[in-house]
Amino acid sequence: MLKDKVALVTGAASGIGEAIARLFASQGAKVFLLDRDATQNAATARSIESESGFAQAATADVRDPAAIRAAVDQALGRFGRIDILVNNAGIFPRRKFVDMTEAEWDEMHDVNAKSMFHCIKAVAPHMLTQGSGKIINISSVTFHLGTPNLSHYVASKGAVIGLTRSLAREFGERNVHVNCITPGAINTESEKNFVTEEDVRYMVGQQCLKRRIMPLDIARVALFLASELSDGMTGQVLNVDGGWYMH
Ligand code: NAP
Repeated sequence: MLKDKVALVTGAASGIGEAIARLFASQGAKVFLLDRDATQNAATARSIESESGFAQAATADVRDPAAIRAAVDQALGRFGRIDILVNNAGIFPRRKFVDMTEAEWDEMHDVNAKSMFHCIKAVAPHMLTQGSGKIINISSVTFHLGTPNLSHYVASKGAVIGLTRSLAREFGERNVHVNCITPGAINTESEKNFVTEEDVRYMVGQQCLKRRIMPLDIARVALFLASELSDGMTGQVLNVDGGWYMH
């Protein structure tokens, strides 16, 4: 479905980003994995490459525009184009608003939202010149729900939706698509650091589908948004949460 497309996926060393990178590679894409954890990222890239096609690790912190440009240059140098950008890297530490410091608020916005400014700045000029491209931003169902002790996170994820909609209008006439996914409660390793088994039972109880929603569930929707199947869509927010929130 993505034969010979060149994709850059941020936060791809683990979790949802890894599932997206793995699925894209299995569908024929040349995938560049951008993550700050060089060792884990290289291991994930090797594992993907051993299963399917081309995967290359590019170490970068998504807060560092120079490192992002170096990763983008790596992809352009090798293949001369970037067709797909998935802005997935994110953090989600809990904090009560009254205890939250300005530094914590800023870090959340820098990693979850401003990172997309840096990545799209580096990639969009090439997509606009080539007259095609798919940008997929990962937000969160928490934006729709409002979630206590995560106000900095939820606000940053709202910024992602605003950015998606505005850029869809700005880039549409050059055939560059910008869409967004809002995952629900996804069963990743890092989720275990933040939620208890009781939390999980509660969240699955809120869903129509009575099973955990997995990284692959998000990756499949990302594949749809990256492929020609979604060529008639832009500026949209697709909620993938097992039927928790409906709008
Ligand atoms: P994850 O398993 O923690 O994976 C995120 C990856 O991004 C990690 O490899 C992480 O590296 C990397 N990363 C974090 N900060 C970075 C930075 N500054 N520069 C480069 N890489 C960085 O998280 P996930 O659960 O897959 O979440 C992925 C995305 O989905 C996030 O945007 C998250 O907000 C969103 N989301 C997740 C859920 C969920 O239930 N899991 C629900 C809704 C939305 P480190 O390991 O070094 O931090």
